[in-house]
Amino acid sequence: MRLCYNPRVKDWDVIVVGAGAAGLMAAIASAERGAHALALDSQTKIGAKILVAGGGRCNVTNEYVHPSCFNSGSERFVDRVLHAFNVEETHRFFERIGVPLKLEKTGKYFPVANSGKAVLTALLEALSSAGGELRTGMKVEDIRPEGALWRVRTQEGSYSARSVVVCTGGLALPKSGSNGAGYPWAQTLGHTLVPTTPALSPLFAEPPVHAQLSGVTLPVRLQLREKNETLASFTGSFLFTHTGYSGPAALNLSRHVVRQRWTHPEAQVYARFAPEIEDGQERVFWQNLVKTHARKTTSNALSTLLPHRLAEMMAAEAAAGRTPLGKLNRETQERLRELTLDQRLPVSGIGGYRFAEATAGGVALDDLEPATMQSRLRPGLFFAGEILDVDGWLGGYNCQWAWSSGAVAGRSAARAALKATTE
Ligand SMILES: Cc1cc2nc3c(=O)[nH]c(=O)nc-3n(C[C@H](O)[C@H](O)[C@H](O)COP(=O)(O)OP(=O)(O)OC[C@H]3O[C@@H](n4cnc5c(N)ncnc54)[C@H](O)[C@@H]3O)c2cc1C
Repeated sequence: MRLCYNPRVKDWDVIVVGAGAAGLMAAIASAERGAHALALDSQTKIGAKILVAGGGRCNVTNEYVHPSCFNSGSERFVDRVLHAFNVEETHRFFERIGVPLKLEKTGKYFPVANSGKAVLTALLEALSSAGGELRTGMKVEDIRPEGALWRVRTQEGSYSARSVVVCTGGLALPKSGSNGAGYPWAQTLGHTLVPTTPALSPLFAEPPVHAQLSGVTLPVRLQLREKNETLASFTGSFLFTHTGYSGPAALNLSRHVVRQRWTHPEAQVYARFAPEIEDGQERVFWQNLVKTHARKTTSNALSTLLPHRLAEMMAAEAAAGRTPLGKLNRETQERLRELTLDQRLPVSGIGGYRFAEATAGGVALDDLEPATMQSRLRPGLFFAGEILDVDGWLGGYNCQWAWSSGAVAGRSAARAALKATTE
């Protein structure tokens, strides 16, 4: 018997819990496949993260999307999902719903309208045009199987559906409504939870030795190392802040700082302020610098490479004074070379979820089927988005994961529900 929506018994084909990026995409995909789809969200004003993403412009995706740009329990799993709804399809989808995208020099794609609001409005319109429904201010308290259906309990009453897609997000930016509500549901239903930590969060320095450089930005290579083992490495833009370090390289490294220190407690962060210098080329590079700028003061010589304030601070730290670079003793030169190419930063920790743009860890991928995002343990239960053990680099990757996993889960949830109702 085909289950149709009946306002009295509140039965649906697909219920999507959480109407953020992944949930809206899942609900649209379900409704466009002909399912009677309902999205429920605890917030009265939804889409907070879509609105704040990319500084309000929403960095929708990236020119280069590859599974290696994501941290997860399985690169193969992520690859499958990204293939099933890839960047080209993402472009076509947004074009179709009236949000053409443009590529910026950084490789990031933004809406031509430069507006996260345009993205949210278009997603809501697409859901409505496909016949899907959204109910806001509906905090889901529990989901559980009941016979062939899933019972979704809210403070306002219960709903039933053949398929349920959990898209409640992670823990980042809790004021947006994402407070990890979906994790205990998944665990109760037998799913493994990979421990969570903030990701894409600023690094804190203790003591904040570089506070006076707050606002200075430059390209850098950051490495997290323990002894001679490199645990993580990112090259990109870097920003000194009054409490530590930020910018893409620092944000990308942050989740590794916390998680690697679980097993590598001595791991430290090192900065190469001339990131173009390859390993093994340090001495040659320094000799050339000294030769070229032998008669300049250290700060003036380093200023040819680095922002002047940073150059001055390094010169002071090495006690180089006004002595010309070429006249400094070997020890001072070694110290300057180290400060320029391998400076240890006093990173004490990272910002909490309030500062984070994503959540590392989450519902383990092992218990899901990558072709459908369906639970291997609980038929009819699907997951998508940040709730999963997947976190991407800065640059549109987390949104892309939300679009791809949301589309795959939504389509599959609809297929499963419609198949069940015709059986
Ligand atoms: C400041 C900031 C900037 C960012 N910028 C970018 C960017 O430019 N590009 C990019 O790719 N990524 C960016 N991200 C990350 C990206 O926005 C998220 O990874 C993505 O939006 C996650 O989507 P989601 O749908 O999985 O989760 P969320 O967006 O967190 O949505 C989860 C939804 O579930 C709802 N919910 C939770 N619990 C319940 C419950 N019990 N009942 C009902 N509903 C519930 C929440 O209200 C919320 O609406 C940014 C994140 C932040 C915080």
